[in-house]
Amino acid sequence: MSRAIFVYEPSLSGYTLSEGHPFKPVRLELTRSLLYDAELLTAEQEVLPQALDEGLLYSIHDSRYIEAVKAVSQGKRLAQAYTFGLGTADNPIFPAMHEAVSSVCAATVTAVELVASGQAQRAVNLAGGLHHALAAKASGFCIYNDLAVGIEHAVKRHGLRVAYLDLDAHHGDGVQWLFYERPEVMTISLHESGRYLFPGTGHTFELGKGAGRGTSVNVPLEPFTEDDSFLECFEAVVPAALAAFKPDLLVLQAGADMHRYDPLADLAISTGAMWQSYQRVSELADQYCQGRLVATGGGGYDPYRTVPRAWALLWAALSRQPAPELVPEAWRSRWQPISPDQLPTHFFDDVSAWPPIARRAEIASYNRAVAARVLQTLTPIWQSS
Ligand SMILES: [Zn+2]
Repeated sequence: MSRAIFVYEPSLSGYTLSEGHPFKPVRLELTRSLLYDAELLTAEQEVLPQALDEGLLYSIHDSRYIEAVKAVSQGKRLAQAYTFGLGTADNPIFPAMHEAVSSVCAATVTAVELVASGQAQRAVNLAGGLHHALAAKASGFCIYNDLAVGIEHAVKRHGLRVAYLDLDAHHGDGVQWLFYERPEVMTISLHESGRYLFPGTGHTFELGKGAGRGTSVNVPLEPFTEDDSFLECFEAVVPAALAAFKPDLLVLQAGADMHRYDPLADLAISTGAMWQSYQRVSELADQYCQGRLVATGGGGYDPYRTVPRAWALLWAALSRQPAPELVPEAWRSRWQPISPDQLPTHFFDDVSAWPPIARRAEIASYNRAVAARVLQTLTPIWQSS
């Protein structure tokens, strides 16, 4: 079964944190309409999320935290909301937030279930990817960790070994800490170094603990890392980690904030390199997981110019279609009136037109040394386990 499924319902755009917040759910509609206009997605490939088994939510998150989210969600005032990370500038309280974030979790679990049960080979939930949420704390625009909930479903219900790959510009801290001592889940994160960017973690010495030692893999990259260096580090570390771990299922968090236009992070990746990395993820899923691959969205704060193209390319790679070249005119004219930036005419950025990055070679050589150190540290652990 090589079917690819796009998990979607309109209410997934209900994850609106607050007016003016950088996390803009309109990205979903922009992407989905681009997929239709570019003839990459058909109605037969779309599936509605199944209802969420709340027990799964409680297996990842602290019950006091879930009760707090439910309470503030209904408009109750809660003295300890702030200690749960709720009601901050990053994670404002909004009406029915429990229901909204539960439906994001439901969609990710549905994607995992479709793939784990063999009904599909690939499944995507672009509303998902809330990788910063912790067991008892909202963090970084994330309330519940849909990825961890989905991974737990794959482990508990299907007995699968899961490799989680996080390509968001920010470290995938929530997923890493939630599975830090678990040998059946490997987390791999390539991100802008925590020395410069939220959440400040994702260092090479975070390796996992106890039975999970060797199953946390971190590749912190320098600000202004460009395509070649990013792809070189990916190639140096990701295939080796998967070869050592031998997963049954690959879960990809495809945050689009690694792109050069992203206003919240400082990496300088183009849509061309993003496409190449998605292609490689698809190949690696074929090589190690019999093709089984679940992908979510994630960060991405350039919602008009960048995110729709990046995620359309993600879908094309996962559903084994060639990369489209031209952004359809119909799509550009529909969305240009609400976009603050000129919408691009091509899926792939013209990198040669971008101003050169100073210290390019120095950044690449620093990243190369980091990737080598990651392998030097982890290889003996992998070999002894
Ligand atoms: Zn991010």
